Amino acid sequence: MLIVMKKQASAEEIRAVCEHIESLGFRAHPLPGAQRTAIGVTGNQGAVDQDTLEELSGVAEVIRVSKPYKLVSRDVKEEDTVIRFPGTNATIGGKGLAIMAGPCSIETREQAFAVAEQIAAAGAQFFRGGAYKPRTSPYAFQGLGEEGLKIMAEIRGAFGLRIVSEAIDHESLKLVEHYADMIQIGARNMQNYSLLREVGRTRKPVLLKRGMAATLEELLMAAEYIMNEGNYQVVLCERGVRTFVDHTRNTLDLSIVPAVQRLSHLPIIVDPSHGTGKRNKVVPLARAAVAVGADGLIIEVHHQPDRALSDGAQSIYPQQFADMVGEVRQIARILHRDVPDGIRVERQTADLATVDEPVARTR
Ligand code: PEP
Ligand code: MN
Repeated sequence: MLIVMKKQASAEEIRAVCEHIESLGFRAHPLPGAQRTAIGVTGNQGAVDQDTLEELSGVAEVIRVSKPYKLVSRDVKEEDTVIRFPGTNATIGGKGLAIMAGPCSIETREQAFAVAEQIAAAGAQFFRGGAYKPRTSPYAFQGLGEEGLKIMAEIRGAFGLRIVSEAIDHESLKLVEHYADMIQIGARNMQNYSLLREVGRTRKPVLLKRGMAATLEELLMAAEYIMNEGNYQVVLCERGVRTFVDHTRNTLDLSIVPAVQRLSHLPIIVDPSHGTGKRNKVVPLARAAVAVGADGLIIEVHHQPDRALSDGAQSIYPQQFADMVGEVRQIARILHRDVPDGIRVERQTADLATVDEPVARTR
C-alpha cells in the first residue's frame, strides 16, 4: 500500500501518519520525492482500512500496490534514486556514471596498490576487490579475509577511492560493513534471504548482483528484501546469466537495463567482466552498457592477469581500462551524462552515504 501525502504536508503530519501505521503493526517507509512524500506500507498481510488512513491529516491519497515489490517500484518513488558518498564527488544513479574497477581478489598489498594506483589515475572512483570469495571449488583461493579488507581501507586512505567488497555470509558482512564503503552481495547470494535482511539492517549502500538464473522480478524482489529492512541505498548490477552459448562465460543481458529503469527508481550498473568471462569482450560490452543507459560499470582489472588467483582471463590490463574510460566518456556525452575525472575527496568524513533525499527513519 502507498500513502501519498499532500504537497504541503508538514514533517509533523508525515511523522504522525508513520506512527499510526506502525501502531497497527506495519512498517512505514517515508520516501520523499521532488513533489511530495509517499509513504510505503509493508508488512500488511491482509487489508488495511483505506478510509481511516485517507482521513489522517496531510494525506492526499491511498493507493493499493498490486505488484509483489513495492519499495523498489517507481509507483512509490518516481524520481531516480541517487546515492551519494559524503565528502566526495562520487554518486551512483545521477548524471555522472559510477566507474568501479579493481582485481577480482585482493591477493597481496603490492598487487592491490599497483592496480589501485592505475585505475585511480584513469578516472575510477570506486575500487572493487574481493576479500571473501565465493569459489566454485573449495580448493581455489578463498580470499585474504580481514587482511584483504584492511588493504582496501589503506587504498581508500592513499587514493581516495571508495571501497566495494563482497560479503558472503553474516560473519563476513560485519567486517565488510566496517571496512568498506559499499557492500556487494554476489550473484550466488542474490536469493540468500537471511543475508539480504541482514544487509538491509546496515547503513551502507549495497551492490546487489543479479543471480545467474534470476528473472527481473526476482532481482527486484531481492532488492525489496533489503529495502524492507530500512536500507534504501541499493544499486542493482547486471552480470550475465547462464544460457546455452559457449562463446562467453555468461550472456550479458543488457536489455535488463531499460527494463529495470522502467519499473524501478534504483540505479543499475553493468559488470561486463563476469558477463563475458573473456578479456577481449569486456571493453566492447562496457561501451554497449553505457550506450544502453547503465548508471555505471564494474570492471575487473589486473596488472598481471596471467598470474591472477581468480578471474585472470576476464581481467583487463590497466591501459585497456584507461582507454575504455576515455571511450565511455564520449558515449556518455551523447546521452547527456558524463564520466567524472576521478574521485575527489573534499573532506574526510565518518558520515554514511545518503540517498538523494534524507529518508526520515521511523524505526
Ligand atoms: C565478483 O564480483 O568477483 C563476483 C564473484 O561476482 P558474481 O557474484 O557476479 O559472480
Ligand atoms: Mn571475479
